[in-house]
Amino acid sequence: MKILFATSNQNKANEIQKVLPDEIKIITLKDINLKEDIPETSPTIRGNALQKANYIKEHFNLNCFADDTGLEINALNGAPGVFSARYAGPQRSDEDNMNLVLEKLSTLEDRSARFKTVIVLQLDGETFEFEGIVEGKILEEKRGEYGFGYDPIFEPENCGKTFAEMEMYEKNDYSHRARATKKMISFLKERMQ
Ligand code: IMP
Repeated sequence: MKILFATSNQNKANEIQKVLPDEIKIITLKDINLKEDIPETSPTIRGNALQKANYIKEHFNLNCFADDTGLEINALNGAPGVFSARYAGPQRSDEDNMNLVLEKLSTLEDRSARFKTVIVLQLDGETFEFEGIVEGKILEEKRGEYGFGYDPIFEPENCGKTFAEMEMYEKNDYSHRARATKKMISFLKERMQ
């Protein structure tokens, strides 16, 4: 069975393929030659994942899944949330985004936050959702060199180090994305039995 992952990032697809049985083959947007951006205009993380998966279903009628991720900061009423990639502007700069978060939190006490990933799977006419959450807090300054996005300012609960201080294998085992992905993989494996 082929399932399209609504991404052009082959590394993300390989990670998932590695842990799936051979009967499930993950293909990507490159394999169907889709070069234009899939619309992501929903005000929620879940809505964007749903929108992307529905787009593939409607235009290509393929089994597929799509993910969306955001950082939700409690003192900022859930921002940057669905705007995480472009919080400080369309230049989509990780540094600018982190600096804006630090600036906005500088006078606020509550620094609690979470990363959330939602995966929406469209399979044989049914829709399934998988959520992965990592609770934590925003530090006052950046720490660590690994990772991307907001990793240097986000410290997961009971962890003592930021995502950017974790090696890739450690974060990949632990992250919001990994949690959502593991749920979908268990579901698919069970479904194949
Ligand atoms: P996407 O939905 O995976 O493209 O994520 C949207 C944005 O959320 C990214 O551009 C990053 O700014 C942020 N983000 C997503 N995942 C992570 C992560 O694991 N660490 C840090 N930032 C992340």
